[in-house]
Amino acid sequence: MPNTMRVAQLVKPEVIEISEQPVPEPGPGQVLIRVRAVGVCGSDVSIWRGNFQAETRLPYVLGHEFAGEVAALGPDVQGLRVGQRAACRPDRPCGRCEWCRKGETNVCPHVHFAASHGVQGCLCDYYLVSAEQVLPMGDETGFAEASICEPTAIGLHIVENVVRPEGGEFYAILGAGPDGLTTLFAALQNGAARIFAGDLIPERLDAAARMGADATCNAAEEDFAEFIMRRTDGRGVDVAVEATGAVPAIQQVFEVTSIHGKGVVLGIAPTDMVEVNCTAARRKELTVTWARRTVGKYRRALDFIESGELPTDVLITHRFPLEQTQAAFECVRDRRDGVIKAVIEL
Ligand SMILES: [Zn+2]
Ligand SMILES: [Zn+2]
Repeated sequence: MPNTMRVAQLVKPEVIEISEQPVPEPGPGQVLIRVRAVGVCGSDVSIWRGNFQAETRLPYVLGHEFAGEVAALGPDVQGLRVGQRAACRPDRPCGRCEWCRKGETNVCPHVHFAASHGVQGCLCDYYLVSAEQVLPMGDETGFAEASICEPTAIGLHIVENVVRPEGGEFYAILGAGPDGLTTLFAALQNGAARIFAGDLIPERLDAAARMGADATCNAAEEDFAEFIMRRTDGRGVDVAVEATGAVPAIQQVFEVTSIHGKGVVLGIAPTDMVEVNCTAARRKELTVTWARRTVGKYRRALDFIESGELPTDVLITHRFPLEQTQAAFECVRDRRDGVIKAVIEL
């Protein structure tokens, strides 16, 4: 094991530099991961652009979607071996609060989450996690593929924990980025009858079609709400999932849903306050839920990746070496070259 490692650090807004740092040692309960792949998430890009959280201090390490190999084990860690390939979950919930005790760890107010609220992220050669964060996988699964375990688990959370469909539902997916596409995948796994996807970027609409959307709408050219109403005889969809963070998409959730429909807002809006149509919500007696991260779905997500059921090649469009982390973030910021998920390989 080397003594030092490469770390991609955010040194000022929109500037990442590679530096050398000592390799950390695992303490009790901890596992040192040789990181092999890190997915670039929209939330990473948001912090990179300067939308700091109260606890963010520079230099800061981003990255929370990752996979690698076990490099060293803390003194008391059992059930894992050095060399084991694994995806890693980014969260370490407190396990003691009211929400954790109910199994709702995605809303734990004391959670340690990689690259969030001051916790350092995983864009480095070696990264410490606790043993529970390690999800062992087979030798055939690629690291980049495994690194999208977390966004896949988010899609499964939206559909299986939040929507809880009976099957036969019509869905509208507002935004065909990584989270919209994994939600689309999860909807198909849970008996969706029809899925309509909207986005502004043609490559993302193609990706939605390849994932199994029945019809796609370029919202730059056509009003998505009208598109939905025309295809549902004015009824609207049973489930609308917003996965963009754009204010018009959040507002459209209230337009495209049917009477007694369900809306889920997943995107991170640029402002805390957003106007929505309360009259539409009341008349249709809508249920609109805001969703946060994921809970209980990491293993299931990894199983879909390992089995090949999730078309990872549709999601992973770009790969960069660690030295080009800066370029990867610029690519995702600009949604350049049809990027959906960019993965840094180490
Ligand atoms: Zn993410
Ligand atoms: Zn907790």
